[in-house]
This record gives sequence, C-alpha cells and structure tokens, in this order.
Amino acid sequence: MIEVNKLNKYFGDLHVLKDIDFEVQEKEVVVLIGASGSGKSTLLRCLNFLEMKNSGEIFLWGDEVNPKKENLNQVRQKIGMVFQHFNLFPHKTVLENVIEAPTQVKKVAKSEAINEGNELLEKVGLGDKTDVYPSKLSGGQKQRVAIARSLAMKPEIMLFDEPTSALDPELVGEVLQTMKDLAHEGMTMVVVTHEMGFAREVADRVVYMHDGKIVESGAPNDIFENPREERTQAFLSSIL
Ligand code: ADP
Ligand code: MG
Repeated sequence: MIEVNKLNKYFGDLHVLKDIDFEVQEKEVVVLIGASGSGKSTLLRCLNFLEMKNSGEIFLWGDEVNPKKENLNQVRQKIGMVFQHFNLFPHKTVLENVIEAPTQVKKVAKSEAINEGNELLEKVGLGDKTDVYPSKLSGGQKQRVAIARSLAMKPEIMLFDEPTSALDPELVGEVLQTMKDLAHEGMTMVVVTHEMGFAREVADRVVYMHDGKIVESGAPNDIFENPREERTQAFLSSIL
C-alpha cells in the first residue's frame, strides 16, 4: 500500500530523513519507534503530504504520487491521521465533529453521515456521547472521537502519531484498545508510539529510527528480544 524509496527531507540545513526505504503491506500494522527528534513524525507527515519530501519516491497503491500533478486532498482522504492533540471543534458536538468532513468535503448526505457517525461512535465506545460537547469529555474519550472522526472519511490507511502521549496514564488503555480493535478488523496502520506493550501485541513489524535513518526493522519479538543493532539495544534499554 505504501512504498517509499530513498526518501530525503530537509528543514533548511537540517537533514531530517536520510534515504528512507519503507513499505507497508495491506492490513499490516507497523509500529515506528525511536527517540524524540529521530524523524518519526516527519516520515508520517511525508506519507500524508503534510510535508513535502526533497527527494525520493513515494508510491501509494502502486502509483507514484506526484504532488505537483495530483490532487493531494484526494490522496489525504484515503490516509487518515490521528495526532497527539485531538483538535476537535469545541463548538460542535461529538457527532457534529464526526460528520463534518464527510458532509463538507465528501458531500455525503447528512442523514447518511449521521447514521455512519453514530455507528462509528458506537464502535469506539462513545455511543452515549454523541450530543455532548468535547469540553465534557476526558482526554481518552476525545482521542476516541478523533479516531472516529478520521474513520468517518473511510480511509484505507491510518497513521497515528503518538496518540496516547498526551493522555493521563489511566486513559491510555482505552485508546490503545480502540486501535487494537481497528487492527483486528484489518485496518492498515502505521503507529508512532512509546507503548511497547501495544507494539508487542499488535504490530506485525517494528521499525526503529535513529537520526533520520531506519536502523532496524523486524517482527516485534526479534526487535525486542534480539535487536541486531547496538543503537536499537541502547534505545530499548532506555525506555523499557
Ligand atoms: P520525532 O517525531 O521522531 O520526534 P520529528 O520528525 O518531529 O521527530 O523531527 C525530526 C527533526 O526535524 C527534529 O530535529 C525536529 O526539530 C526537526 N523538525 C521537525 N519539524 C520541523 C519544522 N517544521 N521545521 C524545522 N525543523 C523541524
Ligand atoms: Mg514526533
């Protein structure tokens, strides 16, 4: 679904992604780990064209995406993204947040969007919160609304950038559970997280980044039990 070849990204003089080769198969769950500043968010943002690469190739569904020629909004519709901070519309109810993009961007009929929105909110365990305003929700509930909102666009790939990092510890589990459910339904996912329990349990593959490069990638067991690279070992012992 995603293939990246020799991706390079600079911010001014700062070389942030260095010859990244990366791929994600359909229904695969890839967990990206690495220290702060290693380039994880930038890689996700390049996949979604929120950042533009300097060089290299990005293929989605087998076709190279040319940002100059293609309608990037259409590309982005197929790739949902959930961030650390949820950015819900505060003046809209939970359900209104979820139906906003389908009705405004995709021009889905409101009644249909409402039906689908209710179903999605049911699925993330918030069927009883549809008419509530975000200020009345906990952080974990807000993040689950953000996930439902993203799913409302019917993406084929979901990108998660540290979705639980801003949450109080007791709220992390409910968001991880929602993500696990999604993985078990066969969603293709790339997840940046420091939750190694989630990585062990859900990831098909763990990718370790350091200083703009992919140092090592493999099955969770291999990465966690037998990392080949010294840097991976050092990183894992610093967080476990
Ligand atoms: P991570 O998500 O792994 O913490 P990031 O991708 O956010 O890493 O950042 C990688 C590097 O790029 C860091 O040195 C960061 O300061 C820098 N960086 C990220 N975004 C920008 C930006 N918009 N402008 C300048 N530098 C940036
Ligand atoms: Mg980041």
